[in-house]
Amino acid sequence: MIYLYQNDKEYDYDVRAIALAFYEREKIIAVSESEFARLSAGEQGEENIRFLSLIYEENKITGRLFDKTEADARQTVCCDYHDHEHCRNEVCRFLYRLFSEFTGRTLPWGMLTGIRPTKIVMKWMEELEAAEGVAPEQKRHSGQDVKMPETVRASLEKRFSEAYLADDQKARLCVQVASREKAFLDAHPYEEEYSLYIGIPFCPTTCLYCSFASFPVSKFGDRMEGYMQALGRELEFVSEAYACKKLTSIYVGGGTPTALSEEYLKVLMEQIHRLFPVEKAREFTVEAGRPDSVTREKLQTLYDAGVGRISINPQTMHQETLDLIGRNHTVEQVKEAFYMARETGFTNINMDMITGLPGEDISHVHGTLEEIFKMKPESLTVHSLAIKRAAHLNMEMDKYQSLVKGSTNEMLCAVDEYCGKMGMLPYYMYRQKNIPGNLENIGYSIPGKECLYNILIMEEKQDIISCGAGASTKYVFPEENRIERTENVKNIDHYVNRIDEMIERKKKYL
Ligand code: SF4
Repeated sequence: MIYLYQNDKEYDYDVRAIALAFYEREKIIAVSESEFARLSAGEQGEENIRFLSLIYEENKITGRLFDKTEADARQTVCCDYHDHEHCRNEVCRFLYRLFSEFTGRTLPWGMLTGIRPTKIVMKWMEELEAAEGVAPEQKRHSGQDVKMPETVRASLEKRFSEAYLADDQKARLCVQVASREKAFLDAHPYEEEYSLYIGIPFCPTTCLYCSFASFPVSKFGDRMEGYMQALGRELEFVSEAYACKKLTSIYVGGGTPTALSEEYLKVLMEQIHRLFPVEKAREFTVEAGRPDSVTREKLQTLYDAGVGRISINPQTMHQETLDLIGRNHTVEQVKEAFYMARETGFTNINMDMITGLPGEDISHVHGTLEEIFKMKPESLTVHSLAIKRAAHLNMEMDKYQSLVKGSTNEMLCAVDEYCGKMGMLPYYMYRQKNIPGNLENIGYSIPGKECLYNILIMEEKQDIISCGAGASTKYVFPEENRIERTENVKNIDHYVNRIDEMIERKKKYL
């Protein structure tokens, strides 16, 4: 627990974010000056109670972090702290140093708590190009990596490490991913186009760590018809509103789209084809995430509909973990679904895995990677376990506390090594809040098999119009450097009953 006293709340958000990066899941309690003095002068000497005071004075902030043992750290930063635009990074560095001094620890990503670190490097690279006068048409090329001069790469890494106090490995990764993303985006005229996301919120069962819009088929299967009708109306509206724009990519996620019955999956594919110019889109992905939802017929339906990329997700290749996290399928089923997809003709299959699952250590990660290596997917997306508020894992934490050790850098290094052996390179990356270990999620792929949609959603370069329960739409206004969002309700029944309202929300921007 951290008792926090501040005489100003200017940086309250950053204070809490950095405190939580060092002390995951810690309670932070804001108290008044007199309460702070009383509590910190009290007798009880519990080591896990800490006291943080931040005193804002004209052009100066003084911080002190201490507990009832000898541990006591103090730092000061001099800046016009009201000037957020210029001082925020400086204040965050000061907060990071305060916690680092107190704990004796550094964090791989330093003071960065944001979810899109590559956006920072992307912006720097664009500024460099603008300074050199590179015109957009000069940037169009094959989409493969354009080799960045060594001096530029080194200076970007150095700038990143110094600005955010990140370690060298993360700085290297961030610059590598950003430069691959940039090469890929430069090759595609995405600015005038849009992408379509379709959410199918059904799953065979609910995974322990899930915080998505997901409803088990056994309980909610009878809602499929109503859902498909409402979704059809929303898709129809989007297809008309965006008729004059080119479609870059279609991504059907969820939930688990293949949790739809064979009949409704066909209906969905027909609907998409009737309403959108699928054959002109650059990419069409459908998640077939849960192997227990995959059948040969469903795979054929997707293949015949022109789906080019699918995802079959083991998360782990250890049966006891699969059972523990409620996935309700076997390791064998993962392999069967994968090879069935290959036999159907899919040549771009992604697999997702999670590091830091309850009860798993580095040896489990090696075991999972070894099995994935044998299957040879075209891409692998690696998530560090995030404990989201709405997930069962969080709500039943007392039960799982001793099993949740979190993801470690060692695990991510093992992933990187195996991906290298499979000929894959990292091509997109993001971070989430509530990842024990404060690490990242990375998408690796064989060159040429990257998922354009994943890059677009991370770099926020074009409108992503999302339909379905819990779907979040993003409208990008590049000239104004502005992004607007509209959200659909998560609950299936509410989505079906309030579909007119969901469409109205979109009308404001479309
Ligand atoms: S398969 Fe994905 S969406 Fe479905 S319950 Fe599991 S984590 Fe959630």
